[in-house]
Amino acid sequence: MFGDLKPYQITMSNFRFKALEQAQSRQAIAVAAPAERVAEYYGSYTFNKETMRTMLSPEAFHKITHAIENGSRVERDIADEIANALKTWAIGKGATHYTHWFQPLTGATAEKHDAFFDINPGDGKAIEKFKGSALVQQEPDASSFPSGGLRNTFEARGYTGWDPSSPAFLMDNGAGGKTLCIPSVFIAYTGEALDHKTPLLKALSALDKAATAVCQYFDRNIEKVIPTLGPEQEYFLIDRALFYARPDLVMAGRTVFGHPPARGQQLDDHYFGSIPPRVNAFMVDFEFEALKLGMPVRTRHNEVAPGQYEVAPTFEEVNLAVDHNALLMDLMEKVAERHSLKVLFHEKPFAGINGSGKHNNWSMTTNTGVNLLAPSSKPKETLRFLTFLVNVIKAVHDHADLLRASIASAGNEHRLGANEAPPAIMSVFLGKTLTKALEDLETKSEIMLEKGDNVYYKLGLTRIPSLIRDNTDRNRTSPFAFTGNKFEFRAVGGAANSSATMTVLNTIVADQLTKFKADLDPRLEAGEKKEIAIVEVLKKYYAASKAILFEGNGYGDDWILEAPRRGLSNITSTPDALAVYIKPESIAVFERLGILSRAEVESRYEIELERYVKMVQIESRVMGDLAMNHIVSTALKYQNRLAETAKNLVDLGLTDEAEPIKDLLREISKRVITIKTNVAAMIEARKRANRVGGSALTDTCEMARLYASDVKGFFEPIRYEVDKLEEIVDDEDWPLVKYREMLFVK
Ligand code: ADP
Ligand code: MG
Repeated sequence: MFGDLKPYQITMSNFRFKALEQAQSRQAIAVAAPAERVAEYYGSYTFNKETMRTMLSPEAFHKITHAIENGSRVERDIADEIANALKTWAIGKGATHYTHWFQPLTGATAEKHDAFFDINPGDGKAIEKFKGSALVQQEPDASSFPSGGLRNTFEARGYTGWDPSSPAFLMDNGAGGKTLCIPSVFIAYTGEALDHKTPLLKALSALDKAATAVCQYFDRNIEKVIPTLGPEQEYFLIDRALFYARPDLVMAGRTVFGHPPARGQQLDDHYFGSIPPRVNAFMVDFEFEALKLGMPVRTRHNEVAPGQYEVAPTFEEVNLAVDHNALLMDLMEKVAERHSLKVLFHEKPFAGINGSGKHNNWSMTTNTGVNLLAPSSKPKETLRFLTFLVNVIKAVHDHADLLRASIASAGNEHRLGANEAPPAIMSVFLGKTLTKALEDLETKSEIMLEKGDNVYYKLGLTRIPSLIRDNTDRNRTSPFAFTGNKFEFRAVGGAANSSATMTVLNTIVADQLTKFKADLDPRLEAGEKKEIAIVEVLKKYYAASKAILFEGNGYGDDWILEAPRRGLSNITSTPDALAVYIKPESIAVFERLGILSRAEVESRYEIELERYVKMVQIESRVMGDLAMNHIVSTALKYQNRLAETAKNLVDLGLTDEAEPIKDLLREISKRVITIKTNVAAMIEARKRANRVGGSALTDTCEMARLYASDVKGFFEPIRYEVDKLEEIVDDEDWPLVKYREMLFVK
């Protein structure tokens, strides 16, 4: 079994030490702090309102502003004028190319760069060309973007269309030039959405319509409701050389093996610690770039885990915030290269250490500047606040599984519901004050209503302080927490595009607000006093949805037992979570509001399933390869050295002294055999799953189910043995960069 190996052959570990040497020798690179004040360069790389005002005719400016605010169409002649201004502006800033920038269902962003430069057919001279038609529409080669069966059933090709509500921006294209990026939707010729943005825009406008109608009960001046989003982005940073020395990080974005470091997050010292110089230089650098692109990045800090950080922007209108988050992730990856760092957005890159989320802070603002989820001390506003609060709770309660579906991915599966992760139960945290206020609403309002005449005071609704920002009241274990004047959906994955979640959240709230109106209006028509009717409806909603409210420890074992008693689901597997998308009630809510058709929902479901299969397949392959070709072979070489030592001891007559070494030899053999057996079985499981693969949706479902249970089932047992070997095998032989080496950047 030990073969004929020389004790010190060249192994992968040389690569590990070379990478470590490189990483260790690096210093923070000097980043010149911008000389100007932020206000002077903020948004200078965007074709924003200010720029448009100076470059467009008053008529064009008026029309484009209207289009931005109301999603109306831009006429051809105006488009030509805007295209011309855009071209002048962009070329003036060094742009050579333009592209429609969109978010296909792969999760990344996509671009196809066309040069402004063209040859004039008349005289063969070079000209710079960019017409309104090129601004409005572009045809990327769509064949390699996923369409989830849509392309078989419908017309194959698609086009991208300009989204004027998100400003065009300039991206450095590396080689000195810049590219003008035009935020766009991506649609099949037959009209089906092939991207994230299209349904999102529809959901946002559905929410606007439904919420505005509800606002009308309280304030006739409210004509528009704008959903807002501030996505806090968590990420890990590791040295570039160490990243490339870990094939699992390169291939799968996470480490499939690795023993947790002696000092992980138990000291909680990283969170409050100062930012390491290399990291700080990176942050200053990408923030400067982000601010030029009009992204309002504000806070930077360390996160709980070593090597983990967070960036949070000021909130913006949801569509813009989603675009900005996608762009920010892109930008961070590019800037990290300059600092010889790698950004990991994966939800769970390291076992035994916190994962990364993208906390979606969400609220709704009116055109009159009111945050509809901000409590107020004024009784009248309190009723409005409670109306929106209770309707959101009801929406989350009724569609908790759909929300869960919106955050389902192979990566997030390691973060939600896995053995060391919070459960995948959707619940809402309100804090003491609001919990009490809602209990009072349910139990006391009737009694109060019978006495006196001032309806609001009788409702007992005046005790909600306008500012509920008590930090002791924070619950970091809640997936969906009220945090003073907004909800924070914390369960969204770090690598996700927020669109899917935002589409679902805004859709279900829009649907719920529409129902609210439908429940309220008959009462008003029957002559019931408005405030009383509202309270009566809210009381019913609260009673029907309070099972979703949970103030306790969301990571505790008790909760896993209690949730099902309350009728709440805990959907741990991604294929099961995704299956909720195609339930009749899910399709119904999307269709009712015109967000997605059945075919579009089904195609998205299929794309997500396929993506899941691919991801687990990659992880499984990388795992098998590393286990057999790197770990087992290293362990055997080390074992061979031990065997020689044992033999020498016996030769010298030190038989007893050789015993502990023989124990080690046995342990290594045992672990190696377990690894080999499991890897072989995992490969068989993969083959079985792959054989199911067909073109029908049911085949994809079955394949994903097999990957989730059978193939993935081998991950833990294999990992367990490998991580044990890491503790035994001589550090100098170990081929994979260790956690303690990766997680502490200088
Ligand atoms: P906290 O410290 O309570 O988490 P912050 O004010 O730092 O609160 O906000 C955290 C995130 O929530 C930021 O990205 C912020 O922009 C966002 N946020 C604040 N208010 C709103 C709002 N009304 N709508 C959406 N996001 C918001
Ligand atoms: Mg937060």
